Amino acid sequence: MIKIENLTKRFGDATIFSGLDLTISKGEIVVVIGPSGTGKSTLLRCINFLETADEGHLTLGDVSVESMQAGQKDILALRRKTGFVFQNYALFAHLTARQNIAEGLITVKGWNKEEAYNKAQQILDDIGLGDKGDHYPAALSGGQQQRVGIGRAMALEAELLLFDEPTSALDPEWVGEVLSLMQKLATRHQTMLVVTHEMQFAREVADRVIFMADGSFVEQGTPDQIFGNPQDPRLKKFLSQVG
Ligand code: ATP
Ligand code: MG
Repeated sequence: MIKIENLTKRFGDATIFSGLDLTISKGEIVVVIGPSGTGKSTLLRCINFLETADEGHLTLGDVSVESMQAGQKDILALRRKTGFVFQNYALFAHLTARQNIAEGLITVKGWNKEEAYNKAQQILDDIGLGDKGDHYPAALSGGQQQRVGIGRAMALEAELLLFDEPTSALDPEWVGEVLSLMQKLATRHQTMLVVTHEMQFAREVADRVIFMADGSFVEQGTPDQIFGNPQDPRLKKFLSQVG
């Protein structure tokens, strides 16, 4: 189980959000939607300690930390339990697809190269890139690069995968293959917290949709509730804009 309590983040004088609470059950797929600048990325980044929240308590399995008091050891322990998939893939350009996937196993988990490369090959097969292991990112399409980005997160067998708009930097032709891979992970009951503008994905795959606006969780519910029977005027307006 993942539990976030009273999460607060400020940048200078600006409070991005305060007092956010979120509990995610094992295997649950939670999709966060909402307008630009409302703090969705910052929320994910605080969970993974890419940013440090000003207040809040994070619990992920057996790791439980006060965000401000977390030491390096806590942060590493928490990062081992999360995988982060970035909008712009953030692959290492000088490493092949196989090396990109194996990197975390070697540096974070301390595996030897052979073990890590074997596991990376299994992941490559799983993400439909079994024959592309020796390709550098520049020689892969956007969709293939993002699948490697997801493969890298999968390799660590993290309890929670965080996705920050994983398809929004892609040409439209590559979006489908990335969403299908995420759908495949969902059918395996991989716990996921996904920020996306892909409403179709949210409708089909989410167990719960959270509408975030003005730094708070304005409304949450099943896809049927959120898309079929929205209540808050801000959600209604947002849905009419995203179509
Ligand atoms: P989008 O849908 O456009 O990705 P978002 O909901 O992910 O938006 P965030 O990126 O979390 O929004 O940003 C929330 C607010 O925090 C914005 O006003 C942004 O300018 C501000 N912000 C984000 N990162 C920083 C930073 N490092 N320093 C100062 N302000 C920041
Ligand atoms: Mg964002």
